[in-house]
Amino acid sequence: MPKKTVRDIDVKGKRVLVRVDFNVPLKAGKVAEDTRIKAALPTISYLCEQGAKVILISHLGRPKGAPDDGLRLDPVAIRLGELIGRPVRKVDDCTGPEVEAAVESLDASGILLLENIRFHPGETKNDPHLSQRLAALCDIFVNDAFGTVHRAHASVVGVAALRPAVAGFLMKKELEVLSGLLSRPERPFVVIIGGAKISDKIGVLENLVDRVEKMLIGGGMANTFLAAQGQKMGLSLVETDRFAAARSLLSRAKARGLQVVLPVDLAVAESQAPGAPIRVVPADAVGEGWMALDIGPETVRLFTAALAGAKTVFWNGPLGLFEQPPFDAGTIAIAQALPGNGATTVIGGGDTVRAVKRAGVMEKITHVSTGGGASLRFLEGKGLPGLAVLQDK
Ligand code: ADP
Ligand code: MG
Repeated sequence: MPKKTVRDIDVKGKRVLVRVDFNVPLKAGKVAEDTRIKAALPTISYLCEQGAKVILISHLGRPKGAPDDGLRLDPVAIRLGELIGRPVRKVDDCTGPEVEAAVESLDASGILLLENIRFHPGETKNDPHLSQRLAALCDIFVNDAFGTVHRAHASVVGVAALRPAVAGFLMKKELEVLSGLLSRPERPFVVIIGGAKISDKIGVLENLVDRVEKMLIGGGMANTFLAAQGQKMGLSLVETDRFAAARSLLSRAKARGLQVVLPVDLAVAESQAPGAPIRVVPADAVGEGWMALDIGPETVRLFTAALAGAKTVFWNGPLGLFEQPPFDAGTIAIAQALPGNGATTVIGGGDTVRAVKRAGVMEKITHVSTGGGASLRFLEGKGLPGLAVLQDK
């Protein structure tokens, strides 16, 4: 069911706590990459225009529940101020008298950025005391950080349960695109799944098996599918405890008559060390001392053919050890084979986005999901705690 958004609630003069995703890379005390800050601007600007008192809260990095000077949000406050063209006040905590006073003195349309919420150990534990202290700062809660909704944290779930809670515009966009993939994709719909481990992503394939025409499986996770069918994978990354899941998925896909493309050839090496000997071999001839690190050229041809004419594509997970050329070749070739004009192409996952950028084809992508893990959990069809607490429309 669609969620209420900031447009569906009266925010004028209200104290509105907005959970944003300002988890941006910092370099030498400055924001090195500001895509996530820009993505939050529509919601923040709208709230300012409506005369709300805007209080922003985010995590940054993994500070282990204690203050870490390298992970303070001061550089974010500066960059946000430049981008939004309004003053942004920043405080050095998320709760306590200093923060309460800053909220108290906030004018309508003013912006206050709180400190990195993960300095509090209660955040990741969804501690009710921390949630209550956050709720005391606001009249309304808005979540615009899609990448957090699979986490039951205090600034995502705890506080949302204590106040009227709605979605921001970025959240709304994510939910529209991803629910569109599940409910009314234009066909044919092709899913490409790669990445290191099958255990992260088998749930998505299990849910999509009834919804797509084709599944292209590459990367480390393809090894487990190949091994589950009896192939010897040498030193390749294989999850032996997932053979049953892999086999059951393949037989469900077969029963449904959908096309599953697994690698038929692989680029293999004796180790991951740069300069180690490399060969391209048929997928059933990996060799004892060798490991599969990329899909081979024949597989690239099969994947490319399967993508021709696709009207909807969802891709998560690089098809090889793309950080280390030449094992980026398969991933780059498939990025370049993505359908352009007219097709809906959705990618998710930090490494996938990096790989597609490297391939220079970002302009073909219809939607880049801001939350890798959250988008996978969503497409698994599982409930997400951070969404469950937002009001339905
Ligand atoms: P994303 O960040 O897009 O969700 P993942 O983190 O799941 O993607 O997977 C990306 C990682 O998987 C990369 O570090 C990549 O090197 C690794 N990977 C892909 N294929 C293989 C392989 N055959 N062997 C080892 N690692 C692989
Ligand atoms: Mg990753």
